[in-house]
Amino acid sequence: MSDATFDVVIVGAGIVGAACADEFARRGMRVAVVDRDVVGSGATAAGMGHIVVMDDSEAQFALTRYSQQLWQGLRPELPVDVEYEQCGTIWVAADEEEMAEVRRKHSFYAERGVPTTVLDTQALRRLEPNLRDGMAGGLLVGEDVVLYPPCAARFLMKRAQKHGAELRLGAAVTDIGQGRMRLSDGAEIRGAVLVNAAGAWAPELTGEVGIKRRKGHLVITDRYPGFLRHQLVELGYLKSAHSVSSDSVAFNVQPRRTWQILIGSSRQYGAEHKDVDQEILRRMLQRAQKYMPGLGPMSAVRTWTGFRAATPDKLPLIGPWPGDKSLFLATGHEGLGITTSLATARILVDQVTGAKPEIPIEPYLPSRAGKEFTHA
Ligand SMILES: Cc1cc2nc3c(=O)[nH]c(=O)nc-3n(C[C@H](O)[C@H](O)[C@H](O)COP(=O)(O)OP(=O)(O)OC[C@H]3O[C@@H](n4cnc5c(N)ncnc54)[C@H](O)[C@@H]3O)c2cc1C
Repeated sequence: MSDATFDVVIVGAGIVGAACADEFARRGMRVAVVDRDVVGSGATAAGMGHIVVMDDSEAQFALTRYSQQLWQGLRPELPVDVEYEQCGTIWVAADEEEMAEVRRKHSFYAERGVPTTVLDTQALRRLEPNLRDGMAGGLLVGEDVVLYPPCAARFLMKRAQKHGAELRLGAAVTDIGQGRMRLSDGAEIRGAVLVNAAGAWAPELTGEVGIKRRKGHLVITDRYPGFLRHQLVELGYLKSAHSVSSDSVAFNVQPRRTWQILIGSSRQYGAEHKDVDQEILRRMLQRAQKYMPGLGPMSAVRTWTGFRAATPDKLPLIGPWPGDKSLFLATGHEGLGITTSLATARILVDQVTGAKPEIPIEPYLPSRAGKEFTHA
């Protein structure tokens, strides 16, 4: 592929780059993808794979819901190893104050056509008997899904390749812009359109983009059949996920098809090393046990970390980068990039081809950024 010319060249073969490659290739464009590692090796390998509709803002809702529906449409084609399971999410309310939030969320979703069920203490207990006694209730969002992100990324990339996309792995991009992508081995690939889908590393290639790395920890347990049936997230999660400064942990657990339990989650700014931070891990597991005491005696088989690409307004950057006509961004998805990868690809390709997007795209355009998005 050295010194070649394509319609589109994408840096990053995470789930976002793979979804973009698939969408461009299926619309008949000549696509190349470059990654310094393997497909789905970055945040995509570290993420939880919760396909979740969120209501932090109208723009976040629109993107997550649109993308969730695209995942639903893709379901019949997904191979078994993607482990697509529509297990639903339960937002767990610990007290009456959080039950008020359950009711607010229920109305928000109902007004926008998302079916949800308000659970009282007994209904919650019936659905998830291993939660501790005394929870006030919760909100069941039945259409939420879990899947295994690296295999989903591989599926999308393989489909792109079937439609002619070329993939170059083990090659680091050192410079992109003005229709050219330079690789560390000296090769140059030219494209009418360049896409920076390098996730949390996007600022290394597009210097002014104000993305910060937000580190997260996850733990996976041994197999415990029947212990957990839904993705459970504490409503306090909203407070911690949205804090922009301090380290935070929240109760967020996911049932895997193997009956393993994925336990999250943490958020840290300024932690640049991928090592496990024992103190954060201790706090995260303590929080999980507070909600589900039965997690305490379980065996953990692996613990790891990953980096989310966080923007100041908590929305991704999808579209042209001001100042370079050839350069487009598809990054900044923070903790929702698995969910929103398919919608990202759709609206990026719509912009490039001039097709009418199915949702308003203005909230995600990099040009919304102004100075707020630069480090300067
Ligand atoms: C702990 C944790 C839990 C999460 N849980 C969820 C969840 O439940 N649901 C959800 O929707 N999202 C979740 N996320 C977020 C999700 O994982 C990310 O938003 C998503 O994976 C981002 O995908 P990406 O393709 O943009 O980036 P990545 O997967 O990071 O891919 C970027 C790629 O770019 C490559 N690259 C970077 N720089 C270069 C270069 N210079 N040259 C060549 N290649 C380069 C990297 O090798 C990598 O493969 C979670 C994230 C974390 C960390």
